[in-house]
Amino acid sequence: MDDAPRVYDLAVTFGVLRSGEGMLAVDDAQQRVLAEVPVLESERIALDEAHGRVLREEIHAPFDVPEGDNTAMDGYAVRAEDAPGTLRVIDDVPAGSIARERVERGTAIRIMTGALMPDGADAVAQVEITDAGSEMVNVFKSLTSGANIRRRGEDMRAGDVVIESGTPIRAAELAVLASVQKSRVDVGRRPTVAILSTGDELIGIDEPRTPGKVVNSNAWALAALVREAGAIPRPLGIVRDTREATIAAIESALESDFVLSSGGVSVGAYDFVKDALDALGAETKFWQVAMKPGKPVVLSRLRSKLYFGLPGNPVSSMVSFLLFVAPSIRKAMGQTKNVLPPIANTRVMSALKGAGERRVYYRVRVVARDGELVAYPKTAQGSGTLTSMLDANGLAIVEAGVARIEAGAVVGTVIIGAVLAE
Ligand code: AMP
Ligand code: MG
Repeated sequence: MDDAPRVYDLAVTFGVLRSGEGMLAVDDAQQRVLAEVPVLESERIALDEAHGRVLREEIHAPFDVPEGDNTAMDGYAVRAEDAPGTLRVIDDVPAGSIARERVERGTAIRIMTGALMPDGADAVAQVEITDAGSEMVNVFKSLTSGANIRRRGEDMRAGDVVIESGTPIRAAELAVLASVQKSRVDVGRRPTVAILSTGDELIGIDEPRTPGKVVNSNAWALAALVREAGAIPRPLGIVRDTREATIAAIESALESDFVLSSGGVSVGAYDFVKDALDALGAETKFWQVAMKPGKPVVLSRLRSKLYFGLPGNPVSSMVSFLLFVAPSIRKAMGQTKNVLPPIANTRVMSALKGAGERRVYYRVRVVARDGELVAYPKTAQGSGTLTSMLDANGLAIVEAGVARIEAGAVVGTVIIGAVLAE
């Protein structure tokens, strides 16, 4: 830490930093980004379309669910005080029907799961504790009053808030919305996200490969990540490494809600993104984050739009997307909680090295084993090694200033994909 100012001065001398700007810690950068993200307007859509959207209204239960006391079991509605005993079966009630008779002392009504409780009964003898008789039934065990009954309003009470605004709509939310008959819901609009791929070396997937050329893979990865976050990707193609082309491309991208570019944000002679943003009058919030991979990351505000200049290296662009852009998309859609990716402790299975002032994110495969999360670092960790992201579902953290983590140690790990059994 002592030599930090000296490193900083050297960096300024070499033009790596503009004065007054340093590398921002990842957590600070995330907070700066989220503070800039506007919540987009909502729209009313059919429930059919709502999966993956963020709910933008508070949902109240309009009626009790269940609407009346009903049986949790297939069996016989009885008076608890009659069990055990032999009872006369006086009616039969499938789910969705209503009993015609009342349960009196010494009688039972055959009843199926979900059917409303008949009057007079205060318990259900599940079929397993009876002889399943149809004229007469033997109940072999005693029952307490209320046994096997689901109470009216046990799930939702009329007027209760059952889902808060700002909640992502997944299977369970869809089920609750359907059960309260919300056939149309207010949800956040999906943001559009322009994707620019800067680089003279880039070619499209169908173009002939000539020496020195690199296939534009970032556009594919970023478009998929945009979609996974719930937004609409607008891939705008390859941008040549000139100031003019970069300016024109950025201008053409500004009709989208967010603009992403990959590449052109380092300190190379052909990195024009920062210059182009300056020329367009953008307000640059930061342009370097203390992380590896992915140090050069630009955040700018340009004509009310947010611009993310992501690094060109394929792994760096994906990692910086996951840490900065995906949370922004969630916030823009109206998600109010948990917009940042979760961090869980994992036990790393090989040693990890630190990188001085930068926090390192190691790609790992996290599995659940013997009740804990275990992380296998991928053998290749280069920021240009695309295959190192294959089946990586975690980013194990080595904090800035930590020289080395030994195999078997427990470290915070950003969870970026589903964790499976080993
Ligand atoms: P840059 O940040 O522009 O210096 O790019 C850093 C590295 O990332 C270079 O090796 C580029 O070839 C590579 N790169 C940049 N953009 C892309 C892209 N769209 N697809 C694949 N690789 C890229
Ligand atoms: Mg480049």
